[in-house]
Amino acid sequence: MNISSDYLKKVFFVLLFVCENLKKGKRIESTHHSRFYPLRALEINQVPNIIMITVYWKKSKGFSQKNYDEIIINLDFHKITCPCGQTGQFIKHGKYIRFIKTPEGLIPLEIKRLKCQACLKTHALLPEFIVPYSKILLNDQLSIIKSNEKKISYESVMLSNPLIDVDNISYVIKQYLSHWKEKLFSFGINLNQKITQSCFSFFKKQFMQIKRGSNILFLQTT
Ligand SMILES: [Zn+2]
Repeated sequence: MNISSDYLKKVFFVLLFVCENLKKGKRIESTHHSRFYPLRALEINQVPNIIMITVYWKKSKGFSQKNYDEIIINLDFHKITCPCGQTGQFIKHGKYIRFIKTPEGLIPLEIKRLKCQACLKTHALLPEFIVPYSKILLNDQLSIIKSNEKKISYESVMLSNPLIDVDNISYVIKQYLSHWKEKLFSFGINLNQKITQSCFSFFKKQFMQIKRGSNILFLQTT
């Protein structure tokens, strides 16, 4: 078979053209991923399906299902503003169980949910005495951190709540030192009773909340 040089040239340029376009295609694909994929991941993290509403009630007597139910019964749903901007659009929307380590054992807490009729997002009503995603109560986490700051034994924390073990204590301390200590120091926030309000006003989340997630504070005044 006699192949002319012109034919070979044509084949060469066609192959070159195909190669260049394949490269461009890859560049476009990689540009697409580097520019858009992280943004998409960020958006998903920042807008979770369930939005948390932390309810602070000054008459709260601490952890128990009874106290939680009392807070929810007295809650003025119509006064809560959804992050979508609408007020008075909430309706009751089921419940789910969260397990909490208490001095009485691992107790299931029935968390009530609301749904915003404007944006259709589900919201979990969390009492201020729990930390989102954690089985350890806010007060116990505070006691662990205070003991660490004062360099005293954790014995009293472990005696007051036998479910709190050495692993829980080292986890809480690690999270505090990695994510919170410097922040509190920078904003002059103390480890006192008002820590929930301070953390919501500066950081838009509950103290010791580690995972990103929308959380709003609702102060029940009555
Ligand atoms: Zn809404």
